[in-house]
Amino acid sequence: MREIETDYLVVGAGATGMAFADALVAASDVDVVLVDRRHRPGGHWLDAYPFVRLHQPSAYYGVNSRVLGQNRVDESGPNAGFY
Ligand SMILES: Cc1cc2nc3c(=O)[nH]c(=O)nc-3n(C[C@H](O)[C@H](O)[C@H](O)COP(=O)(O)OP(=O)(O)OC[C@H]3O[C@@H](n4cnc5c(N)ncnc54)[C@H](O)[C@@H]3O)c2cc1C
Repeated sequence: MREIETDYLVVGAGATGMAFADALVAASDVDVVLVDRRHRPGGHWLDAYPFVRLHQPSAYYGVNSRVLGQNRVDESGPNAGFY
């Protein structure tokens, strides 16, 4: 069996694993190996939606998290009182 050396081993090539790997390589100079028991990336979408490919940017999965909104409380409307 061939040995692989890496900085990060990510188990699971679903949206979460791919988003995490994407953020790692975008933010640093590291080696990442992504493994999955399925035959290709995509996670459960391969079963639920075999006719489409997962194409969400990693940011949509919260990896590149940013504060949503403008740190203020809504004063009117259905969200009054909430950030
Ligand atoms: C029916 C359905 C419809 C959805 N529709 C939408 C939508 O329209 N829009 C949206 O944004 N979200 C949608 N979601 C949610 C979104 O698809 C999921 O939140 C997301 O895909 C989950 O990704 P994940 O990587 O966490 O998990 P998974 O997709 O389950 O990926 C986990 C991966 O890890 C692998 N794995 C687990 N254990 C091991 C192991 N020990 N060794 C090797 N591999 C392993 C699995 O094989 C799998 O490929 C939907 C979810 C479902 C169930």
